[in-house]
Amino acid sequence: MPWSLTIGRLGETAIRIHVTFLLFLVWIWAAYYRSGGSQAAWEGVLFVALLFFCVLLHELGHVFAARRYGVKTPDITLWPFGGIANLERIPEKPSQELVVAIAGPAVNVVIALVLLAVLSFTLAGGDLKAEDLAKIEDPRTSMLVKLAGANIFLVLFNLIPAFPMDGGRVLRALLAMKMGFARATALAASIGQGLAIGLGLLGIFTNPMLMIIGVFVFLAASGEAGQVQLREASRGHIVADAMITHFETLGPQATVDDAAEALIRSTQKEFPVVDGAGHLRGVLTRDAMIRALKDQGPSTPVIDVMQHDIPTVEARSKLDAALKLITSAQVPAVGVLDTAGGRLVGLLTPENVGELMMIHVARDARAERDKGLST
Ligand SMILES: [Zn+2]
Repeated sequence: MPWSLTIGRLGETAIRIHVTFLLFLVWIWAAYYRSGGSQAAWEGVLFVALLFFCVLLHELGHVFAARRYGVKTPDITLWPFGGIANLERIPEKPSQELVVAIAGPAVNVVIALVLLAVLSFTLAGGDLKAEDLAKIEDPRTSMLVKLAGANIFLVLFNLIPAFPMDGGRVLRALLAMKMGFARATALAASIGQGLAIGLGLLGIFTNPMLMIIGVFVFLAASGEAGQVQLREASRGHIVADAMITHFETLGPQATVDDAAEALIRSTQKEFPVVDGAGHLRGVLTRDAMIRALKDQGPSTPVIDVMQHDIPTVEARSKLDAALKLITSAQVPAVGVLDTAGGRLVGLLTPENVGELMMIHVARDARAERDKGLST
């Protein structure tokens, strides 16, 4: 991921900090400096650093729980708005997703309990009241009280039952024990969106920050639902079901001018460059073609301006694995090869996968309606 620095590694998991997080620390320093001088500034930065250490431990809670079920986590990234553990996949069983989702907030519960125990010990009993926790913004309250309060806030905030909060996953896992995974996600996403609207409305009358959180939660819930729909649609299909089979190819000797002609006589936007043996050498995109026409001229060989590192899959392989490749590799297309000679037989593009989705959704809607009529 660009703009993030790897600060450490735990097993197979890289721990990263996004550049905006460092800017955030600078901003915190400046904001505290303006109101309370340099001591306050460093205290502010220390508090944020400790807070994000707790966030990191929270993410590690998810990571270690997931590892128990054989799910790897390539990286954790810390952003100014929190941490994201990039789990390779969601565990298949709902009970496992439940454990993975709860493991994060559980870490913060433990941290809060430990801090409260330490506090009540040092304050020699009875001095710690609920009002102290509420005064979290008071710079004179001790760092430990603030941290304990922040951890309690992290637990409550993360357990809001809406994606992308852990509470949303807990809700989905509980629902998935009673119904299918896709329906559970759709229902959990709707509940989350309803909650987001409620949060937004509440924000109008109280704190505008709630409105921003509401919009964020609403969008995230829609995204999660879409991803699961895509996965459900692709399950049980093979690549050959979804690939484009009618397309124009360019030879390795073709020029950008030849490509431009092909662009005009077809509706294609990505042109595979294929050699005499039918092997894929690369893909020329419309954008690269236009750029080459402008900068290098029409006689430029396509081989010089095409994208080389195009991933390929076999026609008989599972579609969901190929989709993962498309979304993670960020390539214009994936080449589909036959099993025998490795010849190019098809193309998979984000656009035609989207079309497959639309067809699938339309069929589902019709099937649901027919079922409704018959009962
Ligand atoms: Zn979490």
